[in-house]
Amino acid sequence: MSDSFRALVIEDQDGKQKAGFKNLTVADLPDEDVLVEVSYSTLNYKDGLAVCGKGIARRLPMVGGIDLAGTVLESKSGEFKPGDKVIVNGFGLSELFWGGYSQKQKLKSDWLIKLPDAFTMQEAMAIGTAGYTSMLCVLALEKAGVTPDKGEVLVTGAAGGVGSFAVAILAKLGYNVVASSGREETHEYLKKLGASSVISREETMGKGRPFDKERWAGAVDCVGSNILAAVIAQINYGGAVAACGLAGGNDLPTSVLPFILRGVSLLGVDSVMASKAVREEAWARLATDLDKSLFDDMTRLEPMSKLPELAADILKGQIQGRVVIDVNA
Ligand code: NDP
Repeated sequence: MSDSFRALVIEDQDGKQKAGFKNLTVADLPDEDVLVEVSYSTLNYKDGLAVCGKGIARRLPMVGGIDLAGTVLESKSGEFKPGDKVIVNGFGLSELFWGGYSQKQKLKSDWLIKLPDAFTMQEAMAIGTAGYTSMLCVLALEKAGVTPDKGEVLVTGAAGGVGSFAVAILAKLGYNVVASSGREETHEYLKKLGASSVISREETMGKGRPFDKERWAGAVDCVGSNILAAVIAQINYGGAVAACGLAGGNDLPTSVLPFILRGVSLLGVDSVMASKAVREEAWARLATDLDKSLFDDMTRLEPMSKLPELAADILKGQIQGRVVIDVNA
């Protein structure tokens, strides 16, 4: 049928969540106020979990994809008109609301922001939730007083999507960035993004004590668990860690010592429900603080048909940088 289009739909199969490609029509889409023709989506860690049926979808059937960039086809909102180029990051897409792994999608106008002038749709998706989250982490560190003159900053899980952008943005802002990566083969890549040096996960652990030698003025942590605990233990007096991820686990085996003896701050970063004003601030800063010449190194474009294998790869920690998904390929 000519009015049908493709989407990656997560459904219940014998009590388990299973993702598969389906043909949908506009009549199948949720009753939201803006219809968007989607051009690109992305692959984030959370998308990996959703596509591999790890319980991200809280309603079924669910269309995956936490990011999308596209063109408005129809709008009942005064804020958007047909032809507008828009992006969405988060807001419960792929969890509670249908997301970007679809050639068309209906979305709440409150979730949309206009595509920033500085970026094409493909570039905005190269940034996607990962890049926007890393900018939220940088903004959190800045607000906590972690400035480039304070000393070295650490980025953990550095070769992943959030980590790669954090390294590139912090380096462009003049910070002395040390990247922590578990993959030897990513070291050259991370130096190209601006890391002054790269350390292994073992080295990042230091002595593995809850209160260790001071080492970092600040940090962006994508990993959680033992790594985050070790990083908190090594933050300089008055420094801060922006914690956004759980790629290594969602526990945090730490003590209060770094907080009460060194005044260390642990800054929680959430991109999903951040307000429109916060998003617009982050995207405005991305327009000025990101070196676009690094995009080719940091991103690759893949067809939607490859999502099942790419999702498995990101959960195994095997994706370097960002994957943009062409939903029409
Ligand atoms: P990626 O998979 O691209 O990056 C995660 C990186 O963490 C990997 O590349 C790897 O880096 C490292 N890593 C993976 N597994 C382990 C492990 N077992 N132990 C230690 N390090 C590990 O994911 P994203 O960049 O998309 O997301 C990073 C994290 O941030 C995820 O947990 C994600 O859920 C979270 N996130 C949170 C957001 C929020 O709003 N708070 C928004 C976006 C993401 P390396 O090989 O370099 O060591």
